[in-house]
Amino acid sequence: MDQVLLDFDRQDAQGATCTAQAWAKVPAPLTPTQRQSLKQRAKELLAAKGAVLVAHYYVDGDLQDLAQETGGIVSDSLEMARFGRDHAASTLVVAGVRFMGETAKILSPEKRVLMPDLDATCSLDLGCPPDAFNAFCDAHPDRTVVVYANTSAAVKARADWMVTSSCALEIVSELKARGEKIIWAPDRHLGRYIQDQTGADMLMWNGACIVHDEFKGLELELLREQHPDALILVHPESPASVVAQADVVGSTSALIKAVVEGKAREYVVATDNGILHRMRQLAPDKVLIEAPTAGNSATCKSCAHCPWMAMNGLQGVVDCLERGLGEIQVAEPVRGQALSCITRMLDFTAALKAKASGMTPGIGAA
Ligand code: SF4
Repeated sequence: MDQVLLDFDRQDAQGATCTAQAWAKVPAPLTPTQRQSLKQRAKELLAAKGAVLVAHYYVDGDLQDLAQETGGIVSDSLEMARFGRDHAASTLVVAGVRFMGETAKILSPEKRVLMPDLDATCSLDLGCPPDAFNAFCDAHPDRTVVVYANTSAAVKARADWMVTSSCALEIVSELKARGEKIIWAPDRHLGRYIQDQTGADMLMWNGACIVHDEFKGLELELLREQHPDALILVHPESPASVVAQADVVGSTSALIKAVVEGKAREYVVATDNGILHRMRQLAPDKVLIEAPTAGNSATCKSCAHCPWMAMNGLQGVVDCLERGLGEIQVAEPVRGQALSCITRMLDFTAALKAKASGMTPGIGAA
């Protein structure tokens, strides 16, 4: 396979610095009284400002609950985008990472999009700088450019297609059927998984998610020996050695569905542990076990929890609504250019839905 490797040591070193900075910005734990009072204030502000909270499954459980209790949504990135676009609210508060806020703004430029902390980013986004990516695309003009949702607006502006993991298989299969060769960016693990499944000609960017990249195949084998009846649930941003042991490979939504509908009692979960909050709510009788990483030490950048997702807190929601902090802007012409690849994906998935009366079983969104 033709593959471009970035200077990954440098990227990795930069990533380590960035994660240390992100962990330093994670809000301190709240007392029960503080939680209650901030939650109440956030509810009042959401109502007063005509705002709706759009939260990802990886953020703090309090924010997930707040979204559920106030008519917002807790979901994967694809549903966050759709929900924000279709909701009548004039203000969207996006609890997640920056590319999610940008996608909301690209789809709804007339809405105000606020985030609890604008510094909440993503190693996939950081690892795919627009200038280097443009040069990469320029060097391969014969290829269709497919980018994962976890990229900046500027990178999406260069893409022909945006995908989430819920539609990546279908879209790449379609492109393969048309005889198109693909540039895939930025997650190398997800790209390899899609390539294995579709056989498409994919030239990969060398990015990774710092959470999923740290799950360990060997340690997972040992854990399975201790829990022989457990189902192994794996997000496809994980390394191949981990994906190979999965009973279910899927997105956040697909993994939650697997826990809710599964007959097993125990589940080993290889994705960000923020998802366990929703899994426990929906399947309180199931036993959930975190998949092994490098451990809770300096050798582990994420320890199965994304520091940028963890930067979202109740105080941030209150501050952005009360003081107008954290507003997302995406300037033209980048916004309009980025809109094309997102709209292409949304139209494709809508057509699939209409045709099949429900999505073709896919692997779910990131
Ligand atoms: S969990 Fe991984 S893919 Fe998701 S925002 Fe964090 S670094 Fe990015």
